[in-house]
Amino acid sequence: MKKKFTVVMKFGGSSVANVERIQNVARRIIDTKTTNNNVAVVVSAMGDTTDEFEELAFKLSKNPSTREMDMLMSTGEQISCALVAIAIEELGHKAISFTGNQVGILTDGEYSKAKIQTISGDCIKKAFAEGKIVIVAGFQGVDSKNEITTLGRGGSDLTAVALAKALDADVCEIFTDVTGIYTTDPRIVKDAKKLKEITFDEMLEMASLGAQVMQARSIEVAKRFNIPLHVRSSLSKEEGTMIVKKLEKIEDICVTGVTLNKNEVKITICAVPDKPGIAAQLFGEVSKAGVNVDLIVQNVSHTKQTDISFTAPKADLSKALDATRKVAAKIGAGDVLESSNIARVSIVGSGMRSHHGIAATMFKTLADNKINIDMISTSEISISCIINKEDAEKAVTVLHKAFELEK
Ligand code: ASP
Ligand code: MG
Repeated sequence: MKKKFTVVMKFGGSSVANVERIQNVARRIIDTKTTNNNVAVVVSAMGDTTDEFEELAFKLSKNPSTREMDMLMSTGEQISCALVAIAIEELGHKAISFTGNQVGILTDGEYSKAKIQTISGDCIKKAFAEGKIVIVAGFQGVDSKNEITTLGRGGSDLTAVALAKALDADVCEIFTDVTGIYTTDPRIVKDAKKLKEITFDEMLEMASLGAQVMQARSIEVAKRFNIPLHVRSSLSKEEGTMIVKKLEKIEDICVTGVTLNKNEVKITICAVPDKPGIAAQLFGEVSKAGVNVDLIVQNVSHTKQTDISFTAPKADLSKALDATRKVAAKIGAGDVLESSNIARVSIVGSGMRSHHGIAATMFKTLADNKINIDMISTSEISISCIINKEDAEKAVTVLHKAFELEK
């Protein structure tokens, strides 16, 4: 007999949001199982339950303990995995659901952002041998003290990738409510195209720049262990996008996609004394406050004073402002200004490594369309510009066209 394929299938919250969708998912899983595969399924919590749990907790306390939050948040996935197992059994197939703890997902002790250390997976292999479809609750594990932990928002993706590694799976399929990864957000640009494949690096860049199809950490893990991912729709059989190490093409195309992030704010600290150690103090303080600083710009100074601007996630604004004001007072700097009227538009592509003139094309396209650039940052495979929020959609549209991504 031919060796069985092992498939890990992950379904996000919207794919299991109600009874009909759970039944649809169950049929989809059975289809895969009956073509002689071992199937392990990872599910997220139904619809927006995780957000709802969080809201509930914050109605009771401004500062709920992280341990209790993980106890709470982990229950959503436990509900959906049992329901999917019930739906499969109702259709006449053998299934069994497990919590993270039961499949031996061992993590460190960092509540709400725990890292997976090992997965035993023994009970999954035993269930496979009994012909069962295995459904695993995503987003959770236990630490060495047997405390329940969660893996950070969107963490079911990580569970799926880690399971694929532990089971030596042939493919890890990520089912979602879109049909794959697009050149840009199809809600903004009508002729955005679905990509057949994209590299881990590009996908990582897109995820960190605001294209929220998969949790960034899960892509890092997939990259590290070279686990091919297939992002596809739970509602159609259409092939989605493969995320792979290297593209089959002989030469990289220069730009693969355009992303937009409107969830950042800009903070500027004016008239900073231009002397050694100032940036270290400022960003030391800001990082101690737990703020994830993104883009930093320091203006050239002719007067022994400079302005320093940085961007950070909107959610961190008040923490960032407090920390910055504290430093400003200490070092004798001027005003601290904030702006939420910003957007980050970025182009991403592995081919940037070997093509030149891409930045120039980007800047000229924005200029031709009277879009002012406020800050710029680059990585090996991306260029980002901070612009006014009102120009955001227009910028995405003109850049998508300039790099001929609709073709
Ligand atoms: N339910 C969790 C969340 O909403 C985990 C996940 O969806 O992957 O973040
Ligand atoms: Mg979710």
